[in-house]
Amino acid sequence: MNDTQSYHVEWLIIGDESQSNVTVRMSDGCVASIEPGRTADSIELGPVAMVEGLVNAHTHLEFSSLNHPIPTTGQFTDWIRNVVKYRRENPGLTSAAIGTGIMESWQSGTTILGEISTVGWSSANYAKPGFKGVVFQEVLGLHPERIRQQTELARSHITDTEGEARGISPHAPYSTHLDLVRESVEIAKLTNCPLAMHLAETKAELELLCQGSGEFREMLIDFGVWRDDLFQSPLKPLDYLELLSNAPCSLVIHGNYLDERELKFLASQPQMTLVYCPRTHAAFGHSEHPWRRLIDLGGRVAIGTDSRASNPDLSLFAELQFLAASRTDVTHLDLLRLGSRNGRIALSFKPHSENEAPADFTLIQLADSVQRSPQPELFGPTNRVCGTMVNGRWVWLAPDLATQILSH
Ligand SMILES: [Zn+2]
Repeated sequence: MNDTQSYHVEWLIIGDESQSNVTVRMSDGCVASIEPGRTADSIELGPVAMVEGLVNAHTHLEFSSLNHPIPTTGQFTDWIRNVVKYRRENPGLTSAAIGTGIMESWQSGTTILGEISTVGWSSANYAKPGFKGVVFQEVLGLHPERIRQQTELARSHITDTEGEARGISPHAPYSTHLDLVRESVEIAKLTNCPLAMHLAETKAELELLCQGSGEFREMLIDFGVWRDDLFQSPLKPLDYLELLSNAPCSLVIHGNYLDERELKFLASQPQMTLVYCPRTHAAFGHSEHPWRRLIDLGGRVAIGTDSRASNPDLSLFAELQFLAASRTDVTHLDLLRLGSRNGRIALSFKPHSENEAPADFTLIQLADSVQRSPQPELFGPTNRVCGTMVNGRWVWLAPDLATQILSH
């Protein structure tokens, strides 16, 4: 591919601005200029909307080989037990699953990933041209010895700066000792890396934090990791939010059961982002998610798919279609912001701006007439992703479009 390429599109949407009938010129992986009409040297992309690249702010690619989600209908801890069982029974699948997951993400328009990795992975799994994202090393444990060992793991993960961008993910309150969360925050402060943590995901988690009882206690006893000195003084998600707010940048994953005070706190911290995973949230049958309330309070919300252990696919585009179909009170342009720009900021990537930003774009084929603005129907059920560009390079193109571009 040449260093300079020009594409004519019916629609270009960057930030809150939509432009119709323009030529986008890319040079050295960035947007060099946007010109009205079609220039003589441009490649015609047809009835498409070229939009800021979609960002999947939360996933676990190690589960990408699963054909169906692990059942989510019983107790939440039943699902966790089955996830642990799957991981134990399939230790050799991780590398291949990560590769499959990256490809699936590209094929559904995702340009940047917030990826949580556990064990059995190597940097080589992400060393694909065009891979862009933050690889968070998950740390968890409740015993003092484990806390020491996991702190060391986090430290070595962050200091190994070859290859992909890195972050740390203290897993969740029920699996990760408060001291290990504190250590993770300290490392994040020292190294300026992002932090991601599952929080306030279930009512059972709130019960464990507040009273030390419930299904999580039973599960920890069964796993042989329960200690009587755990969860003795009552805690709330707010205690974790306050701790995480000390990191330079943190992602609060799920937050399904954050209360008004916690949402207000989150909204007051511009370095923090709540990551909502719409279809996973729906699959577990949780109470209504407070994402709209957080936006009203001035907070930032990004979107994730979570993994194939709770979701049928890794399509961020499908998450936005799901929201578009279920929330008619939110504009498609607002949904696009959650699914692109907000995820970029959450993961510490430079925001898209017209003249210097890396060209990360998602191409959406519009099923309906292109005479009117695509905004009201951008995530309509019959639209589809037909191309994914990272740093000015196509990482995936629908076959018909690939033929069109190659024949130019
Ligand atoms: Zn997750």
